[in-house]
Amino acid sequence: MRLKDKIAIVTGAASGIGKEIAMRFAHEGAKVVIADIDEEKAKATANEILKNKHEAMAVSVDVTNEEQVELAMEKVVSAYGGVNTLVSNAGTEFISPLEELPFSEWKKLLAIHLDGAFLMTRACLKGMYPRGKGGSIIYMGSVHSKQASVLKAPYVTAKHGLIGLCKVVAKEGAKHNVRANVICPGFVRTPLVEKQIPEIAKGLGISEEEVIKKVILKDTVDGEFTTTMDVADVALFFASFDSNALTGQSLVVSHGWFMQ
Ligand code: NAD
Repeated sequence: MRLKDKIAIVTGAASGIGKEIAMRFAHEGAKVVIADIDEEKAKATANEILKNKHEAMAVSVDVTNEEQVELAMEKVVSAYGGVNTLVSNAGTEFISPLEELPFSEWKKLLAIHLDGAFLMTRACLKGMYPRGKGGSIIYMGSVHSKQASVLKAPYVTAKHGLIGLCKVVAKEGAKHNVRANVICPGFVRTPLVEKQIPEIAKGLGISEEEVIKKVILKDTVDGEFTTTMDVADVALFFASFDSNALTGQSLVVSHGWFMQ
């Protein structure tokens, strides 16, 4: 029970990586808030956790919407009394060569990844600082926080940006014992990745099988996808590491695709 009685908000927790992290945190004793724009799936995830006799609540929130974020935080504070851990994980992908990329899609993606991370962080810090119990802010970066790929300009830009935000939170949060770190996964087979395989195939003029072998897993040490469980392990490590010794860092979990 490494998170006994801790309160954790996970954004984008109705699916994929966020859902796995929420289930793992609950299993480790945390009260988990499933914060997602998809209300039905968020409720279903919270019910799954409750069925396992762990603690969870669903909160419907678009992380790009300031009012909705503030309201969601009020609901969490009134239900659980505060927040110990934020996993800012909600995200999307948009595949396009830069010269054809609509400005609207650029702005939409940056808003979800960066505005969302900022708004959720600010809302959490406003509660964490006066509460005086410290906290852990975890951002879902990517190998694309460290390096680029073709057809992913807004995603690569946003994921690099999260590292900057994390470092500022680490510096400002230190005197309140609030830590901030980034997880940088390689490719994980979630709906986000299943959707982009045919899009990359189209963009590069190759088959979907070639996308997996020659693009997605080409530079891993063993040709394997990273799993949601691998990422949840790292999230648990960051959430349960209780000192400022580990802050302002980014950890790559990618089967060696990217090596520091
Ligand atoms: P996913 O599509 O399975 O889940 C994303 C979740 O985010 C969904 O439940 C969706 O409803 C939610 N969401 C989207 N926009 C939102 C908004 N505005 N407000 C609130 N919730 C919103 O995707 P995933 O693969 O689990 O991705 C989760 C995170 O992990 C993303 O930040 C993604 O960039 C990152 N990531 C994924 C991979 C991968 O290979 N899958 C690799 C590295 C990083």
